[in-house]
Amino acid sequence: MRRNRHAKIVATVGPASSSPEMLHRLFLAGVDTFRLNFSHGAQDDHARVHAAIRALERETGRPIGILQDLQGPKIRLGPLAGGRREVAAGESLRFVLTPTDAVPDAIPLPHPEIFAAVAPGQDLLIDDGRVRVRVTGLTGDSIEAEVIIGGTLSDRKGVNLPGTLLAVSPLTPKDRADLAFGLELGVDWVALSFVQTPADVLKARALIGDRAGLMTKIEKPQALERIEDIIRLSDAVMVARGDLGVEIPHEDVPGRQKELIRSCRLAVKPVIVATQMLDSMVSAPTPTRAEASDVATAIYDGADAVMLSAESATGRFPVETVAMMARIIHRTETHKLYRSLITASDPGEEETPPHAVAAASAHLADAVGAAALVAYTLSGTTAARVARRRPEVPILALTPDRGIARRLCLLWGAHSVQAAEVETYEAMVEGAIAHAVEEGFARPGDRVVIAAGIPFAVAGTTNNIRIAQVPSA
Ligand code: PGA
Ligand code: MN
Repeated sequence: MRRNRHAKIVATVGPASSSPEMLHRLFLAGVDTFRLNFSHGAQDDHARVHAAIRALERETGRPIGILQDLQGPKIRLGPLAGGRREVAAGESLRFVLTPTDAVPDAIPLPHPEIFAAVAPGQDLLIDDGRVRVRVTGLTGDSIEAEVIIGGTLSDRKGVNLPGTLLAVSPLTPKDRADLAFGLELGVDWVALSFVQTPADVLKARALIGDRAGLMTKIEKPQALERIEDIIRLSDAVMVARGDLGVEIPHEDVPGRQKELIRSCRLAVKPVIVATQMLDSMVSAPTPTRAEASDVATAIYDGADAVMLSAESATGRFPVETVAMMARIIHRTETHKLYRSLITASDPGEEETPPHAVAAASAHLADAVGAAALVAYTLSGTTAARVARRRPEVPILALTPDRGIARRLCLLWGAHSVQAAEVETYEAMVEGAIAHAVEEGFARPGDRVVIAAGIPFAVAGTTNNIRIAQVPSA
C-alpha cells in the first residue's frame, strides 16, 4: 500500500478516534503517525490505543509511527472560589501561591517558579491568551497585576508567561512517569513540551537515549533564541503553533514557521507543522478556505508532516478531516508551481561527502527517470539526507530496524520497509530491486537508484550511489 503524496499526516488520538475500527479507518484515510497526547487520558487508555495500532500494523503490513506527546511544565491556575470569576480591564488582581482567609479574593497560582521569575511590566496570559494581565508589583508571596484584556477565569486554566525564562524542568514528575511508561510500551517518538533551552533537550536525551526519537516542540520564545542548538540536539521538531501563538504575536507565527522549516531542512531533521490546521472541521464536515490554504502553505514551505489535534481527537469528523488533509497535500504537491517553490526554499546543504552523495543521488534519480530512489538506512540518516532534496522520485527507505522504519513515518517522501540486513554489494542491489518491485514502485526494465553507506554496519555514512535496472521478465 502506497500513499500518493510525499508529506505525512500526524493525527492525535482521543475519544473520537481511539477504537480499533476508527484507527483502521483513519490509517486508510491517510494517517502515517498517531499522536498519543499525555496531557489527557490515563496510561491504560494510551496502552490500549498503542496495542490497537500495533495490531493494525500487523494487519496492513505497513509500519505506523506512534508519537508520545508529554504534557511538560504546563502552568495552570489553582481552583477558584466558586469555580470561575469575571475580570474586567483595569481591575487589580492578586495572585498567591496558596489562598488564605486573609485574602479571600486572591487567585491561586500554585507554581513557586513563577513567583521567583516574574518582574513588574511582564504579562501573564491566561486561557490561551484570552485574558491578559500585567504584573504591577511583587510582595514575596503574592503578585499584584492589572487586567489588560478582561474575560472569564476558571479552575485550572492554562497560564503562559511569554517574556520569562522559568526555572522549571522540561520534565515534571508526571512526565517522567509517562515517559518510562511510553518507552516500556515502545513508542517511536517522544515529544517534549515547553522546551526553553538546549539543556532541556539534553536532560530528556539522557533519559530516552536512542530508544525513541526525540521531538522538540517549539512553543516558547526562549527556545527560538537558541533554536540552532535545539534543532541540532533533537531528532525532529514540531512547530507547536497553539502555545507559540499565545507566547508570540499572531503576526509573527507564519514567518517563524517558515524559518523553523528551513532550519530543520538544513539540519536534516523532520519538521511537523501543528495545531488548528483544519480546526473548523472539529464541528463541520468541510474546512474554511483559510484552513485549506494553511495546510497547503505548510506543504509549499516544505514541512515533512502536518498534524491534526482536536480535529481527530475529539471532533465530529475525524475520518473526513484526515481525508481532506490528504487531498489538500496531494493537490498541492501536484500543482504546477510546487516544484519551483519547494526547490526555491532549499536551504542547500553542508559541504560534506555524505550530504553531497545524498543530494547527488536524489538529483540522479530524477535525471534518469528512476522508478524509485532506494535508501539503505540503518539509523534513518541516509533516508533523511536524500529526502532533504525533495526529489520527485518516490523514496523507498530500507532499514533492518523496525523502530527506524516506524520513525520514518514522519519523514517527507519516505516509504519505509523493514528489510533484511545486507552484507554484500550484490545483496544490496538485489534487495533494492526486489523491494522496489514488491512495494509496487518498479517493473521489469525500470531503473532504480540506490543510495547507501558502505560498510553497511556503520550508521550515518552515505558514500555510494548505484543505478540498477530491474531485469526484464
Ligand atoms: P499541544 O501542543 O497540543 O500539546 O498544546 C501543540 C501546540 O501547542 O501547538
Ligand atoms: Mn502546546
